[in-house]
Amino acid sequence: MGKSSKDKRDVYYRLAKEEGWRARSAFKLLQINEDFNLFEGVKKVVDLCAAPGSWSQVLARKLRGGDVKNDDVKIVAVDLQAMAPIPGVIQLQGDITKKSTAQEIISHFEGEKADLVVCDGAPDVTGLHDIDEYIQAQLLLAALNITTHVLRTGGTFVAKIFRGKDVTLLYSQLRIFFPLVAIFKPRSSRNSSIEAFVVCQNYSPPAGYIPNMSNPLLDHKYDTDYNNLEGPNRVIVPFLACGDLSGFDSDRTYPLNLEDGKDYVYHPPTQGPIKPPYEEACQLRKTDQLAKVVDPKKASSESSDKSKG
Ligand code: SAM
Repeated sequence: MGKSSKDKRDVYYRLAKEEGWRARSAFKLLQINEDFNLFEGVKKVVDLCAAPGSWSQVLARKLRGGDVKNDDVKIVAVDLQAMAPIPGVIQLQGDITKKSTAQEIISHFEGEKADLVVCDGAPDVTGLHDIDEYIQAQLLLAALNITTHVLRTGGTFVAKIFRGKDVTLLYSQLRIFFPLVAIFKPRSSRNSSIEAFVVCQNYSPPAGYIPNMSNPLLDHKYDTDYNNLEGPNRVIVPFLACGDLSGFDSDRTYPLNLEDGKDYVYHPPTQGPIKPPYEEACQLRKTDQLAKVVDPKKASSESSDKSKG
């Protein structure tokens, strides 16, 4: 796919490059913030599953206002993948479902709780919906467990969720900790994707709840208990679309020159992937060392010519 054809495909992808965001996901957080005022009074944040870092960029720009030395603000970003540095953001590399990573995050918040925890975590989707939804739910629960250790009472938790058939269980689990839970679909999130975001406000753990590193939320007996809820015991979570309706629709194709009379200018991606698996192959190709594909028929006729000669 050529450079401009990819740009034509997605207006948010293009806008992200123009505005210097590392990924189009930045607009999802910005649009959720438009409706929820997420950043008001917020000084300490955890960004889970943060690579390549566009949410961390949004947090740094909104909370620090460009002042990297603002010591009042703390942003801790975590991902399985390495992330290029962002001024003013503490970066950790690790798996959020692992106890050691959770402990490392928590160690940054001893004596000072976070006001906001965000998680845009997604597994590498397999296309098998049940499996993808299950893994996504486990990521969300791991994020929620870390949240119970670091979030201050009254704080906010925002996380990606896949709206699959068993999502009721997750709503119920979230409602144990947050009296206000809503589902949001930002305009920059494609309609074709089952992703949405839960916005959980006013963190209020149950009386006597002691955060536990062995993650009781991943205990499967909860599954049967909560999935069988019926009638008034079944939580109905409000669903809302967010993002200004005059904004761009992520499922539409737009002309390259968005403003009349202005020529289209190609912008390269703000942040290229770090150590992608194909890096070695690219390097070999540059130096013409990549193994050439050999046609077996040609090879055998060449070798028989040689033996004749
Ligand atoms: N919010 C990011 C941004 O704006 O740049 C994009 C996040 S991307 C959609 C999902 C990320 O989840 C990937 O970078 C992936 O490495 C991360 N992830 C998936 N499973 C994880 C896990 N178990 N622990 C930590 N990160 C994980």
